[in-house]
Amino acid sequence: MNPLDYGAAEFLGKQIHTAETWGAKDISITCDAVIVGAGPGGLTTAAILAEHGLDVVVLEGGNFWPKGTFKRQQSWALRNLYQDGGTRVMQGGNAFIPVASGRGVGGGTLVNSGISFRAPDWVLDQWSRDWGLDYSDRDKLFEEVEAMIGVEYTKPEVAGANSEVAMRGFQKMGVKHNFMPRNTPGCVGCGTCQTGCPSGGKASADLNWLPRALRKGARIHANCRVETITMKGNRAVGVKGTLREFESNKIIGSVEVNADRVVLAAGAVNTALLLLENDLANSSGMVGKNLHVHPGSGAVAVMDEEIRVWSGATQGYFAYHPDERNILAETFSAPPEAFFTQVGRIGPASAEFLRELRRMAACGFLVKDDTSGTITPVKNGPPNIQYTVTDSDLRKFITGIEFVTEMFFAAGSRKVRPLIAGKKFFTSWNEARQHIRGARDAADLMIYSSHPMGTCRMGDDPKRCVVRPDGRTHDHEGLYITDSSIHPTALGVNPQMTIMAHSLKLAPQIA
Ligand SMILES: Cc1cc2nc3c(=O)[nH]c(=O)nc-3n(C[C@H](O)[C@H](O)[C@H](O)COP(=O)(O)OP(=O)(O)OC[C@H]3O[C@@H](n4cnc5c(N)ncnc54)[C@H](O)[C@@H]3O)c2cc1C
Ligand code: SF4
Repeated sequence: MNPLDYGAAEFLGKQIHTAETWGAKDISITCDAVIVGAGPGGLTTAAILAEHGLDVVVLEGGNFWPKGTFKRQQSWALRNLYQDGGTRVMQGGNAFIPVASGRGVGGGTLVNSGISFRAPDWVLDQWSRDWGLDYSDRDKLFEEVEAMIGVEYTKPEVAGANSEVAMRGFQKMGVKHNFMPRNTPGCVGCGTCQTGCPSGGKASADLNWLPRALRKGARIHANCRVETITMKGNRAVGVKGTLREFESNKIIGSVEVNADRVVLAAGAVNTALLLLENDLANSSGMVGKNLHVHPGSGAVAVMDEEIRVWSGATQGYFAYHPDERNILAETFSAPPEAFFTQVGRIGPASAEFLRELRRMAACGFLVKDDTSGTITPVKNGPPNIQYTVTDSDLRKFITGIEFVTEMFFAAGSRKVRPLIAGKKFFTSWNEARQHIRGARDAADLMIYSSHPMGTCRMGDDPKRCVVRPDGRTHDHEGLYITDSSIHPTALGVNPQMTIMAHSLKLAPQIA
């Protein structure tokens, strides 16, 4: 199958139902399996279950976006393509850390950068050893995912000048580095993955796993938020939700699905919330706990040459830290207005920042976090998320910021700004390093995250885990989870491939 197959839209109104095509009404459906959430976990599961002959229905809270409907506008994207309008933050703890998640048919893959790493062997070996999981088939699973979503190294011609800077700097430092592996076979390097791919060149899950599921008869209802998991004794037998007008969020109908199998794939925050709100699957007390997010930070640098950080692949280059395997450096870009909001300065310094904007380069990194957060539902409001950065993770941050700052000086920058309190640019590596090492607290750093996981971890021990190694919850018959919440720990690389690989592995057992 072509990873960029645009077959999905032809099913609109027939198997893809939205608030518009559906009209206001209350409906009741009976099927073999209902899946809550249409991100990579949910859509991969849907495809495999449908191919096993099951009658599958997917319910997705966000919208369906046919090709060409994304607007290259940060404010539009936040409102339409992100959970809680892009305002979800972890504010209970020692730092204020945004935690972004996607919304819509495709979930996070609509807005992600397409970075496609296999799970590191050392992490999977740890998951096997500590959590009783079997990854003897890992190569086969990842090969299948890579072929399905079209993973390849970013081509130099679309990588952009920002990637060239990173290549030069990491090369001088003598560390392992390369163009980014991404599932973007039709990328034209427009640098706006985070507002939805306007060219359709990113192989998001709605372009491949979704049509694969639809061709086998699966149905999907967008604009449909699940609120209740229906139980009969100890068995999950369906879900209930509301159909909402997309723009206004006004409730215009209700949906009830009766199914032999209920699969939760609403993402690591929302799946945990659903279980907590329904008081299910929590005999271990672990639902909503063990939240890992791969927090990250970085540095920006002024180069002599024009970079135009917003052109070229959104995240086109990466490097491994030579001594700390819990740090992965990745370049990043953003449209000019978003770049200015995220890393810009205020007052008179902002004029200088704007003057130098075209010559700025940016590189971030993610941390495989030991810190684990906790999600608690709040009635009629966004969840309360506690996340207190541990001292050992703070040290990783300092090492990561040093790594990318040094890279920029090695690449020839005369002025580098670590993303750390003070918003200062430094003209020498020694001076910058001293400043970075002065950070005492997570609140001194600019931290961002977009990889929530671990809130319903999978493993063979029902006292420590929510989900069994075959995807079923330890506590209930008929209730399964196949999204990023099942990762037993943080992963250390961007998670979409691992999420899809888990679904490929678990779905046949669910069927
Ligand atoms: C800006 C950004 C950039 C990223 N970049 C990368 C990258 O380059 N590479 C990578 O590997 N990963 C990346 N990620 C992370 C990756 O996209 C996510 O880890 C992945 O999408 C999570 O998949 P999931 O199936 O667990 O859930 P999600 O993708 O979060 O999907 C869950 C879906 O469920 C829906 N939902 C939630 N609650 C309900 C409900 N009650 N009823 C019905 N539907 C519901 C949501 O609307 C959503 O569409 C990025 C994420 C973001 C936000
Ligand atoms: S950089 Fe642009 S064209 Fe390339 S995948 Fe991202 S949004 Fe699509």
